[in-house]
Amino acid sequence: MRLRILGSGSSGNSALIVTAGARVLVDAGFSARRLGRLLAEAGESLAQIDAVFLTHEHGDHIAGIEGLKKFPQIQLFANRATARAVQEGLTYRPAWKTFETGARFRFRDLDVESFAVPHDAHDPVGFRFTSGLEEDLFDPRRSLAWVTDLGHAPPHVREQLRACDVVVVESNHCPRMLQADPRRSWSTKQRISGRHGHLSNDAALELLSSVASPRWRRIYLTHLSRDCNSPAAVAAAFAPIRALLGCELAIVGHGEGAPAYDFP
Ligand SMILES: [Zn+2]
Ligand SMILES: [Zn+2]
Repeated sequence: MRLRILGSGSSGNSALIVTAGARVLVDAGFSARRLGRLLAEAGESLAQIDAVFLTHEHGDHIAGIEGLKKFPQIQLFANRATARAVQEGLTYRPAWKTFETGARFRFRDLDVESFAVPHDAHDPVGFRFTSGLEEDLFDPRRSLAWVTDLGHAPPHVREQLRACDVVVVESNHCPRMLQADPRRSWSTKQRISGRHGHLSNDAALELLSSVASPRWRRIYLTHLSRDCNSPAAVAAAFAPIRALLGCELAIVGHGEGAPAYDFP
């Protein structure tokens, strides 16, 4: 399994997962034209994409869906509430594949599990993607947890992170930079930092240190706010627990992606 984060941050999110049998995107938060360019940089194209898995209907996760109408082979996986909310803004009807939040299902050689996350959307989810066909001592299955856009991490989310090789989690804002930001209103700050907003650097740190797993190979800290966070602020916040985490820590700056990572 290969993971390539195409772009991350409050102005757009998307990642490519490639397995022997599938090429899928997690979210499509850039215009289709931009997604095409980002995929081309990875030697891929939208024509090769089999499916998109949507976490929720916010624009920074679905901006490219309208432009995907030129690619009818792409199946769109979302729960019913998210699909309904996204469909309202579309001029065409994509090949929706709706699932119940909490359901496990299979797409090609990927096992997919969705789970609810607390965020100010209709029915936002995180995902766990597991590659491989069955247990094999010499070719073990590999798992990726995808958890962005959540105000806090309930116990079931923590469990999902523990059982993975690679974790993608948001580290959205520095609490001090958010409070000091002159452009955001008090109510917006309350929403971002609230129980259904976004994880701060401190909250992401608390989450990861509470479930630190020897299985982890790499952690991606993503969905950084442009104005209220920086890779340097994230690095400083995480410096004290780098040793505890015992794996690589990749901080994905606002608007940036990350090079491809091949699961061992
Ligand atoms: Zn978002
Ligand atoms: Zn959101």
